[in-house]
Amino acid sequence: KSSNILQVDAKDKLSDQMVELFDACQQKTSDLERKEACRARLQKDIQSIYAVARLYLTGSSMNGLGCRSSDADLCLVLKGNKRTDPIHVLSVLKRFFKSLLYVEMTQLIRAKVPILKFKEKDSDLEFDLNINNTVGIRNTFLLRSYAYADLRIRPMILVVKKWARHHQINDASKGTLSSYTLVLMVLHYLQTLKEPVLPSLQRDYPDCFYPFMDIDMVPEGPKRVPPYISRNQSPLGELLLGFLKYYATDFRWDKQVISVREAKALPKDNSVTWRNKYISVEEPFERNNVARAVHEKIKFDAIKAEFAQSWRILQDKKDLNSILPVGAII
Ligand code: ATP
Ligand code: MG
Repeated sequence: KSSNILQVDAKDKLSDQMVELFDACQQKTSDLERKEACRARLQKDIQSIYAVARLYLTGSSMNGLGCRSSDADLCLVLKGNKRTDPIHVLSVLKRFFKSLLYVEMTQLIRAKVPILKFKEKDSDLEFDLNINNTVGIRNTFLLRSYAYADLRIRPMILVVKKWARHHQINDASKGTLSSYTLVLMVLHYLQTLKEPVLPSLQRDYPDCFYPFMDIDMVPEGPKRVPPYISRNQSPLGELLLGFLKYYATDFRWDKQVISVREAKALPKDNSVTWRNKYISVEEPFERNNVARAVHEKIKFDAIKAEFAQSWRILQDKKDLNSILPVGAII
């Protein structure tokens, strides 16, 4: 019953269920083609205002960790443009998009990284566009390399994202975990197992993930990364249980910083980046806490409680439905 795309040899029910869910939810080639067509059209139209602008697809559409329903994250790169205040550029684009017949529902969000939200007309395809947040391009291609380093990574992460969404702990705008944070948490767990499933790609292939690489070259870097062959051949179900257990019992939230860059937990120092933060997850290309949205104790406690409860239930039932009912997903 194993998928034609995914040749994971799942021998137990829980692992089979994870592969099945992955097959049902993962982004299809046609989904990506639609996003890419829209990106190309937008880039061409935007170049009528900003001649040197380049538009990049980022996030789960590109990193191999998307589902059919994932939005399309876009980064507009304006090089050498004097007026690159993102709010200004996004306001100009907001007005301009009103003249484009294939765009609707344009909304400017003044967050730390300001974005323009919009939809493709008469479809359910949603976009989030930022200006010059090029770290998102770099980390998208780093994540993509991790996603394809081992066949278990994509199903593992997709199930964790669905699980977190179902339990309402996957919404940074509501003080819980962004999808990006969850992905780094899964990678960290897989990097720090006694027999690791993943290495640090930044450490092993520094030339492919050089933080100051010209942005046009970034998508090419990962093409030179060979797949990682791990001695750890644990089935998916065991990895999912281990992941829940790690964050329910082993990880020291108050003392440790998750570093995918170094493939280990770093001791929390007293700098403003980590001080008084409930959850500390280092952005692999900058010294930033990607989990800073979790700033209320009540949300932090809810997150920890979901790890503990799901671990307990899954350990007992060994059935994915017990923590992620089939009817509630996709
Ligand atoms: P989903 O499928 O739920 O949309 P996603 O993988 O697109 O998940 P998001 O959390 O929506 O994840 O983030 C989209 C992209 O934006 C990430 O892949 C990353 O490139 C970038 N990003 C998000 N948060 C941060 C952050 N705190 N620092 C740097 N880059 C970030
Ligand atoms: Mg996204």
